[in-house]
Amino acid sequence: AVDLRGKTVLVSAAAQGIGRASALEFARQGATVHAIDINEVRVRTLEAEHEGIKTHKLDVLDDTAIQTLVKKIGAIDILFNCAGIVLNDTILNVDMENFDFAFDLNVKSMVRMIRFVLPGMLARGEGSIINMASVSACTRGVPNQFTFGTTKAAVIGLTKSVAAEYVGQGIRCNAICPGVVDTPSLEDRLRSTGDYEAARESVIASLPMGRIGTPEEVASLVVYVAGATYATGQTYVIDGGLTM
Ligand code: NAD
Repeated sequence: AVDLRGKTVLVSAAAQGIGRASALEFARQGATVHAIDINEVRVRTLEAEHEGIKTHKLDVLDDTAIQTLVKKIGAIDILFNCAGIVLNDTILNVDMENFDFAFDLNVKSMVRMIRFVLPGMLARGEGSIINMASVSACTRGVPNQFTFGTTKAAVIGLTKSVAAEYVGQGIRCNAICPGVVDTPSLEDRLRSTGDYEAARESVIASLPMGRIGTPEEVASLVVYVAGATYATGQTYVIDGGLTM
């Protein structure tokens, strides 16, 4: 367990999946959590699930809204940039509008959040930033994940760059690289194949542990890395042995 009492955490994409599980785990470790999502109704349900969680409707594509919220919150000790979209495509069938949108959501949203949160961290001489990447960019290429892999590779680049720039000023910045995790968006992707059961079975068959990971398993790593005071500029793979 990591003692996060007295710490303030900002988590994006907190209405469901890994972001939600992480907001809850941060709260369990004693932190005050600001959980944000564009899905206001769903993110709000977190408030009743654990004390210490405040929720906000926020679109991570909206600079002004981010700036206003960060000002309102005040000191932020830990920032978990979790928002991101998974797309299935190849370099030859990529839709460039989707590519731009994915870059905006998966990469530029993190740039926006960090640009607004980092000055406060630097002023206090302390801060931990966690960015959500993926195993499909960190250690391997994955077919049919061209846009996704490209954006998540950029997340790793920005993570290492921020880490290197501010390592002497009390700032740490790390990335999490999950494999396949059982979240609502994974369910949607499996359903969209037209044969949910076969798609799920084929995913499970590709996983050495013989099962899909849970959001809670990833959340425990997110919280651990957030509090790992000697770690920066790293990518933490959690993939059930997929890339072992
Ligand atoms: P998810 O995709 O099921 O949910 C994403 C959440 O993000 C939703 O609540 C949605 O409302 C919110 N969101 C979308 N656009 C937003 C915006 N513009 N502003 C604010 N919130 C917005 O959750 P997940 O599957 O846990 O994915 C979370 C992160 O983990 C993503 O970055 C994803 O790429 C990454 N990831 C997921 C997997 C997986 O297998 N599920 C694997 C590797 C990496």
